[in-house]
Amino acid sequence: MAILDLEAGVEKPHALFFPFPAQGHIKPTLQLAKLLHHCHGFQVTFVHTEHNRRRLLRSLGPGALEGVPGFRFVAVPDGLPPSELDASLDLAALLSAMESLGPHFRKLVSDLPPVSCVVSDIWHVLLTAKEMGLPCVTFWTGNACGFMAYQQVQTLVDMGIVPLRDVEQLSNGYLDKTVLDWVPGMPKDIRLSDFPSFIRTSDAEDPILEILLRSMACHRTTPSAVILHTFDELERETIAAMSAILPPTYAVGPLPLLLDQVSGGVVVESSLSKENHACLEWLDGKWPNSVVYVSFGSIATLTTEQLVEFAWGLASSEKEFLWVIRNDQVNNGACGDHHPAAAVLPPEFFEETKGRGHVTSWCPQEAVLRHEAVGAFLTHCGWNSVLESITAGVPMLCWPFGVDQYTNRRYV
Ligand code: UDP
Repeated sequence: MAILDLEAGVEKPHALFFPFPAQGHIKPTLQLAKLLHHCHGFQVTFVHTEHNRRRLLRSLGPGALEGVPGFRFVAVPDGLPPSELDASLDLAALLSAMESLGPHFRKLVSDLPPVSCVVSDIWHVLLTAKEMGLPCVTFWTGNACGFMAYQQVQTLVDMGIVPLRDVEQLSNGYLDKTVLDWVPGMPKDIRLSDFPSFIRTSDAEDPILEILLRSMACHRTTPSAVILHTFDELERETIAAMSAILPPTYAVGPLPLLLDQVSGGVVVESSLSKENHACLEWLDGKWPNSVVYVSFGSIATLTTEQLVEFAWGLASSEKEFLWVIRNDQVNNGACGDHHPAAAVLPPEFFEETKGRGHVTSWCPQEAVLRHEAVGAFLTHCGWNSVLESITAGVPMLCWPFGVDQYTNRRYV
């Protein structure tokens, strides 16, 4: 199925992209859409949730999603209560809100020109697309090793390893001692502690674990193909092993580098928070490889104690640093745009690091990592951050917070 491009007189495929509504999924999905549009002439419909659309318009400007040639941006309700904070959303709430997407998706598709293909990592969207007879493809915005780990969770449940027997196992070394030497395409010494955080539960009826198991089964059986955001040279063995259990599987990436090769491409961006470019000017005045860049991505939250501990760690490192502290970074619920998280840091920290530290609430990360002044990245190991760091040749220090960040940390 294709829509007719009257201008060119040829039929172009019309792909509908619908990423899981979080920054780390939206950005690579838009990059893939740009690539397919530029290199293969795809017409793109890109779906955001209404919450994220509001955030994007605040961050990019009111007209940012209109008049982009070849791109149509639309929004569906996310089923979540309106939030006052310009903040990332609670992951568990978001996962269960996705359960109600089916009807919105059907309505959306019926209002559009015929759709050739649906590209998504939301299993409800993939299932609904298939029910509607639309070809669909999983775009897994993570890597092969994390996806492989997720795919093993059913086996871990069948083996009685997950859920954990009790919460003691989280802190008594059990996760480190449990070696999973049978996972296809992964090192023989991979440990339970290297697996995504969803296994860290002792609740036999953990709803998130349940959602994970169902979504993994969906990715195995529903799409016509699976695209992984990775590249062969990095994960050849795991990609080969994934191909044996998934529909036809393709590694496409790193998307930031592939897009570099596209000149005159579509310029629309996907940052949900307003980027502070002053930090690039700050970096301009620094020696090559002298600055530690610190960021824990778009979702991870810290306790006040952790934030303060990192602050004094940076102060005593005596290094220059650029630190992204999102306004909603502290998890005591008391911060947001009006009470930015950075405000919980003691004034002595700012006095001690005056002139060698720059704190911002959000930066153009890819440009920062590519800046010659940046010599190291203290990262939470979100896959985009890892890939952007590899792409820029910046060594990483890892402090994972959850999801597949533990697996990524192990591979870094
Ligand atoms: N990012 C950014 N500016 C920042 C911090 C992060 O543009 O100040 C981007 C970063 O480049 C990456 C994304 O946000 O593409 C975060 O995705 P990742 O997979 O690293 O982590 P997540 O947010 O999903 O935990």
